[in-house]
Amino acid sequence: MSPYRIDVLSLVPNAFESLNKLGVIGRALTSKIAEIHIHNPRDFTEDTYKKVDDQPYGGGSGMVLKPEPIFKTFDQIPSLECRKVVMMTPQGKALKQKDLQRWSSENNQLVIICGHYEGFDERIRTLADEEISIGDYILSGGEIPALTVINGVVRLLPGTVGDSESLKNESHNDLLLEYPHYTRPFSFRGMEVPKVLRSGDHEAIFKWREKQRLIRTKTRRPDLYQDWFNKVSTNETSHKQK
Ligand code: SAH
Repeated sequence: MSPYRIDVLSLVPNAFESLNKLGVIGRALTSKIAEIHIHNPRDFTEDTYKKVDDQPYGGGSGMVLKPEPIFKTFDQIPSLECRKVVMMTPQGKALKQKDLQRWSSENNQLVIICGHYEGFDERIRTLADEEISIGDYILSGGEIPALTVINGVVRLLPGTVGDSESLKNESHNDLLLEYPHYTRPFSFRGMEVPKVLRSGDHEAIFKWREKQRLIRTKTRRPDLYQDWFNKVSTNETSHKQK
């Protein structure tokens, strides 16, 4: 199978060097499950100063990324059949696990546009299929948000994680968080592993884990718990109506 293609537009290309050292992600890149191409808009400027930003029309603080170098960079990127163009911006839709699942399974190319300075000239937004934020806070550039997306997508590609079963039970795969994990030793600094996990009774272990998922989600993420509760209630009502 040809590698999943990731193209990144960034003014800080070396921010992505760490990906090769990131355990399973690094291995996925060396084994060609995915390949990453970094494109620096500064290389696509036409003036001697390699100017990528300029002052905002209407005044105000900060510099704005100019459209020409970004469009020029974008235009020379080869386009595969199932391409998705994602722009990193704090004004975008909050990144969710289901987005990573969607991009890893429905697309074979992800183009990520990273901003810098005050942000983008508004016309650059027209390049993006989706605008994505990694949270309600501001970073200095789109590189760390892009690394987050790349890590999240690549680990879902077939072959990256040896045991694909482990991807199924994770938090945020459905609305509930994952149950607690323990490993040896049984007793550590007075804290003991719940007995049921050592009982060998698979049904009891399954029930305990399911219950823990509910308790965890309810206490840590009441918003997700409410969504889960609503979904279960709707399913029950539609079952009864059938
Ligand atoms: N002035 C802009 C913020 C610019 S931050 C505003 O108020 O909306 C500079 C760049 O960093 C952005 O263009 C974006 O690419 C990136 N960035 C910063 N915070 C981000 C976040 N929470 N999610 C995604 N990208 C972010």
